[in-house]
Amino acid sequence: MANANKKDETAQTKPQARLVIRNIGLLLSGDLQKPILDADTVIAVDGKITAVGKENDVDAEGATLIIDAKGTTLAPGLIDSHVHPVAGDWTPRQNQIGWIDSYLHGGVTTMISAGEVHTPGRPKDVVGLKAMAIFAQRAFSHFRPGGVRIHAGAPVIEHGMVEEDFKDLAAAGVTMLGEVGLGSVKDGATAREMVGWARKFGIQSTIHTGGPSIPGSSLIDKDIVLAADADVIGHINGGHTALPDDQIVTLCEKSPRALEIVHNGNERAALLALRTAKELKQLDRVILGTDSPAGSGVQPLGILRMISMLSSLGQIPVEIAVCFATGNTAKIRNLDCGLVAVGRAATFVVIDRAQHSAGTTVLESIQLGDLPGIGMVIIDGLVSAQRSRNTPPATSAPEVVKH
Ligand SMILES: [Zn+2]
Repeated sequence: MANANKKDETAQTKPQARLVIRNIGLLLSGDLQKPILDADTVIAVDGKITAVGKENDVDAEGATLIIDAKGTTLAPGLIDSHVHPVAGDWTPRQNQIGWIDSYLHGGVTTMISAGEVHTPGRPKDVVGLKAMAIFAQRAFSHFRPGGVRIHAGAPVIEHGMVEEDFKDLAAAGVTMLGEVGLGSVKDGATAREMVGWARKFGIQSTIHTGGPSIPGSSLIDKDIVLAADADVIGHINGGHTALPDDQIVTLCEKSPRALEIVHNGNERAALLALRTAKELKQLDRVILGTDSPAGSGVQPLGILRMISMLSSLGQIPVEIAVCFATGNTAKIRNLDCGLVAVGRAATFVVIDRAQHSAGTTVLESIQLGDLPGIGMVIIDGLVSAQRSRNTPPATSAPEVVKH
């Protein structure tokens, strides 16, 4: 007992990790309502943001880690809403290792699995698919390459599942389904019933939209998507093969669910979905993913490329496009990151105009279609990466001045 008490005391007296990021030139909040904040300093204690403001107005004393942003731009860490992890930092789809760590160098700090569907020999019987989902949820909750948080354990629904299965999955810690349509359930009525059971037990759902992605998957058209009513209309721009334009517009208009646009989809269809969401004044529904690893490979810069593509070709201000990959996704996915706001995770990407971009500011450079350079990535208050090994070099990069 004495030992136990002593341990408690140690925990209570452990000094706080106090992060101060100062000299921020531009602060992108990730919040559509106010995407640019009038602030140059962010304080975080033990990995959570405690203050955002002007240096003179916040308490910057007692820092255990000070970062001088050198006038560069701070944004929330990027969220990839659609990845297909398998095991560890390896993808059998391209037989590649280290892909998650490469995405970290593209500013991605959080990933959402849309199903561990590339698992060699993936079990399709009910006991097997449940076991695999629980395994993936457990494994990726403990495994964070470079600090990247991977929300995984996303079972693909199959015929034969009953309500009790979803109850079991939820009780075991599973919080989301993999893409509906990648398993044997491809009809609207069954999908709707299972999505409903999932929702009843707090499990979020997403649906594959469009033509088959790889041999074994199938067409999911607008009628099936509307009938299934999953929480996220996964790759509304196809993955890769998109639905006809009128079906994409109908999905935007008739469904209230999230509109996920992916890198490994049809880019013209992506711009159509974006334009439709904008006309509907529903940009808060737009979220971004890579839908990778996939047949078209691994995309460490995929989310940055989406922000640049949607901003430059879709005539969307950069600070709004950043929200699609941060605050919007966090709200729809119930994550504690994605916004630079008090109480949120101190998870950031620090960017600057790429060297020799024609744009004179970071926002202008992205609006012109260039990618920004990443100077630092911070996850839960800790520096995970400094100058990115994957982006074009940033003109200026932050420096750690005290640690
Ligand atoms: Zn898909």
